[in-house]
Amino acid sequence: MDFQYTAEQDELVRALRAFARKELAPRSSHWDRTGEFPHDAWRQMGELGVLGLRVPPAYGGTEGDLLTMGLAMEEIARGDFSCTYGIQLAGLAGEIIGKNGEEAIKQRWLPPTARGEAIVALALTEPGAGSDAANLACRAVRDGDHYVISGEKSGISLGMAAHAAVLFARTGAGGARGISAFLVPLDLPGVTRSPLRDMGSRSIARAVLSFDGVRVPASHRLGKEGSGFYQVMQGFDYNRILIALGCLGAAQVSLEETMTYVKERKAFGRMLAQFEGVSFPIAEAATQIDAARLLCHRGLWLADRGLPHTKESAMVKWWAPKLAVDVIHQCLLLHGHYGYTDEFPFEQRMRDVIGLEIGDGTAEVMKVIVARELMGRETRPY
Ligand SMILES: Cc1cc2nc3c(=O)[nH]c(=O)nc-3n(C[C@H](O)[C@H](O)[C@H](O)COP(=O)(O)OP(=O)(O)OC[C@H]3O[C@@H](n4cnc5c(N)ncnc54)[C@H](O)[C@@H]3O)c2cc1C
Repeated sequence: MDFQYTAEQDELVRALRAFARKELAPRSSHWDRTGEFPHDAWRQMGELGVLGLRVPPAYGGTEGDLLTMGLAMEEIARGDFSCTYGIQLAGLAGEIIGKNGEEAIKQRWLPPTARGEAIVALALTEPGAGSDAANLACRAVRDGDHYVISGEKSGISLGMAAHAAVLFARTGAGGARGISAFLVPLDLPGVTRSPLRDMGSRSIARAVLSFDGVRVPASHRLGKEGSGFYQVMQGFDYNRILIALGCLGAAQVSLEETMTYVKERKAFGRMLAQFEGVSFPIAEAATQIDAARLLCHRGLWLADRGLPHTKESAMVKWWAPKLAVDVIHQCLLLHGHYGYTDEFPFEQRMRDVIGLEIGDGTAEVMKVIVARELMGRETRPY
């Protein structure tokens, strides 16, 4: 076992930590309060190379290893949790379009996605199908050299800001085998968007996207008809670990800020850190963050070697967001009333991280997957 990062990974962590502290953290609460989409931060992340980590080199990316991507998620989350959506969604778009798109689609969309100039959302969830994601109602019907798409997608991160979406629609019979993926430019006639007022990650413009007879050239289908569900599920396995590391980054920076604070703040003639009621929760949080991070790294290590990692992915996807919410909550409390104000980042971080207890698969669904991996498919409830 080798717990040492490579020289390149060390350098990336150093550069991203400085970037997150100088460029993201000071603007994070402004983005939260105004709901302004951080376009310039996206371009800066593009310049730093973190939006092209799953884009093939021929299209402006680096197609790096997943552990490096996980390190990037954790570092960016230290500055602004919402910006981690840039890394994971540019990663999924890069992977799905890069592996399944026609040449013209790759050339049109991948280089600007890696530069942070084009924003590509992932549109799977529908008002009537979330956890039961293979039960999509959105349809794509072949009409000559086009498909005509009709349906609604809800809870779509980046939805108001995106230039295009990787959209999943039914082209065949019911179930997973009837689902195909498409690259849909969002300026086509028949597309409308409505913003959602979520409790956290307000800057990343989550939306409902409606498609009313939207005509998309058949060349925009990604891969074969019926392969869409498998494309997204393959990416979800490692993406869930990346999300977990983003959550741990928000928890880690909160804990570090709290350790500084409880050594400065005094009560009853002593520094707060001298009370065991203060130092023990900090020791417990540090232990649990470290353990969760190690499980994430093992999952990415497996993924980088093409080995099964579904179980590890589902384990950290239920655990890390919950752990992060608990740790940030504890950090908020250890700051007393100051922690409860929006002068400090804890309430925002809690709101942001709670979203990932749901997004990309709820804790309950993750536990169904872990149980299935441990005890066999016959234990699934459906
Ligand atoms: C922050 C955030 C970001 C998101 N970003 C995107 C995005 O970019 N693109 C996209 O397509 N979607 C996105 N979503 C949608 C997200 O993927 C869904 O919300 C999620 O899959 C859950 O689906 P649902 O909301 O329909 O809940 P439901 O599926 O209706 O679940 C409701 C409750 O029932 C429970 N439940 C359901 N089935 C079972 C079961 N078998 N066993 C036990 N409990 C069960 C769930 O755990 C949950 O508690 C996002 C959501 C959030 C919150």
